[in-house]
Amino acid sequence: MEFSLFGTTEETNQDVKPTEMKPEPDIRNVIVIGSGPAGLAAGLYTARAHLEPLLLTGNDIGGQVSLTSEVENYPGFPASITGPELVQKMQEQAEKFGVDVRIDTVTDANLDVYPFELTTYEGTYKTKALVIATGATPRKLDVPGEERLIGRGVSYCATCDGWFFNGKEVVVVGGGDSALEEGLFLTRFASKVTIIHRRDKLRAGKTLQKRAFNNDKIAFIWNSVVEEIIGDEKVSGVRLHNKVTGEDSVFSTDGVFIFIGHTPNSQLFQEQLEVDEHGYLVVDRHYSTSKEGVWAAGEIADSTFRQVVTSAGMGASAAIMVERWLGEKAAEEA
Ligand code: NAP
Repeated sequence: MEFSLFGTTEETNQDVKPTEMKPEPDIRNVIVIGSGPAGLAAGLYTARAHLEPLLLTGNDIGGQVSLTSEVENYPGFPASITGPELVQKMQEQAEKFGVDVRIDTVTDANLDVYPFELTTYEGTYKTKALVIATGATPRKLDVPGEERLIGRGVSYCATCDGWFFNGKEVVVVGGGDSALEEGLFLTRFASKVTIIHRRDKLRAGKTLQKRAFNNDKIAFIWNSVVEEIIGDEKVSGVRLHNKVTGEDSVFSTDGVFIFIGHTPNSQLFQEQLEVDEHGYLVVDRHYSTSKEGVWAAGEIADSTFRQVVTSAGMGASAAIMVERWLGEKAAEEA
């Protein structure tokens, strides 16, 4: 199909400004997939470049930050802000500048045709440029009892489910920032929070470690893995294996909160774009994927930093590259 950024040929010339860019009726200039910080930042920047972006939220509206209790390290919020509030503000800002935010999920993507084609629950879309910001999903333990007891004591979200454990005892599995941060949050409700870690050293940052060690409600079980989650109608305990002593034991608990990392949501693109050995999309320093015209931002392309601020930065950077690329392409074809 003929590529034309500005719709009518009379308007196209080398001096055309981004403000004059109008999408063709059924072809978008840019579609952003994902509504976390990366997607919303990409939407904001492409909207401010008058590219009239469409943002498809996906099922997990707001992304992982919307499941985070307190965000203490996003610049500009010295008193901290809750994850849902922060992402809500980002969405408000994006919509204020004209991002077309639609609650819809992409079920198929064809990047071998141009414009690229996306199929969603609601219909099909064509787009000249694509920003993939589909993020990552909390990893599961994959042990007996886990799946069956989700919502009956097994949870991956302290913000969502912490309240249900008022005055109860819970365990947190993991030794990273998420485990400690969410474990600390759970002390607001639970009478005791026991953090179960598979090693004897935490991966989490020193500040969180200090806060956790100083909290009377938090205890640790070291060098241990959860081999089974026990309970009939609801969780009653976990079966543990100590990797150093070889000892097996049962630890009684009312709830199991699992924070053991993430899996990138790249399933739709794995056959069409280059991915690394863990399934993260491979991008260059400008966040361009292996396919020209397709960018990736946020955790889908970042297994290292995974911060709200870095994801938002990636989204903004990808958007700037989209604007430049579309502008150059239009100028070439003028
Ligand atoms: P993470 O840093 O990858 O930590 C995952 C933890 O789970 C590790 O301690 C790991 O153990 C353990 N683990 C992994 N698989 C396991 C299994 N099958 N069974 C038992 N334990 C298992 O993940 P995260 O804590 O979700 O953090 C992700 C990223 O977000 C990090 O970059 C983190 O810095 C960032 N983050 C930052 C903040 C903040 O700055 N406030 C808050 C949350 C997250 P090992 O240590 O033995 O590998």
